[in-house]
Amino acid sequence: MNLVLLGAPGAGKGTQAEKIQHALNIPILSTGNLLRQAVAAGTELGRKVEALLDAGSLVPDELVCSLVAERLKQPDCAHGVIFDGFPRTLQQAQALDGIVHVDAALSIEVDDDTILHRMSGRRTCPKCQASYHVTDNPPKTADVCDKCGAHLSIRHDDEPATVRSRLAVYHKQTEPIKEYYSAQGKLKKVQGQPKLSDTVRLVSEALGVAL
Ligand code: ADP
Repeated sequence: MNLVLLGAPGAGKGTQAEKIQHALNIPILSTGNLLRQAVAAGTELGRKVEALLDAGSLVPDELVCSLVAERLKQPDCAHGVIFDGFPRTLQQAQALDGIVHVDAALSIEVDDDTILHRMSGRRTCPKCQASYHVTDNPPKTADVCDKCGAHLSIRHDDEPATVRSRLAVYHKQTEPIKEYYSAQGKLKKVQGQPKLSDTVRLVSEALGVAL
């Protein structure tokens, strides 16, 4: 199954993606993580996109699409992929349709004020990319990744001003994609809940998958 996750930055796509990954045994393809890895590794692509990431602006479609096409060539993608943070523009959605068959698009709906609260408490593992929240989804030991033991950090682009511009980018450039998938009968909407386990239940019902 090829599944697209839609939702504002901080809506909880990454957290739901991890649950779905374990249930379906298919990998997560997060363009945000791939781009951050390129920046950390100092590759040519990384140098090109670093300033855009820090500003919360979108990376050009052709760069992101070729990154995705490369990743999809790996054998672990053969039985399906969970797309997290991609597509983010109508052009990317159209390009994706040219590479794989998208089975469903799940939109996690969360209002902007809730997003701003969540992002201010977000902590990310710089090593394995796992994501936590200081109060809503804390690691077992404060500031330490449950999965790999690395020290958690705050992403540069989780600063409130940058979050506001990322939300504006989301509403303008990414939200129209919902209409695109809705017209194909593939859109499933879920209202993000204050409690993580409640959102997981709604996602499970929407996808018809035990999570
Ligand atoms: P978020 O937490 O906002 O969902 P991501 O980790 O998905 O963030 O992405 C972080 C940044 O990486 C974005 O603000 C953008 O600069 C860049 N990016 C990620 N995915 C895409 C994409 N599909 N198209 C363009 N830019 C992207």
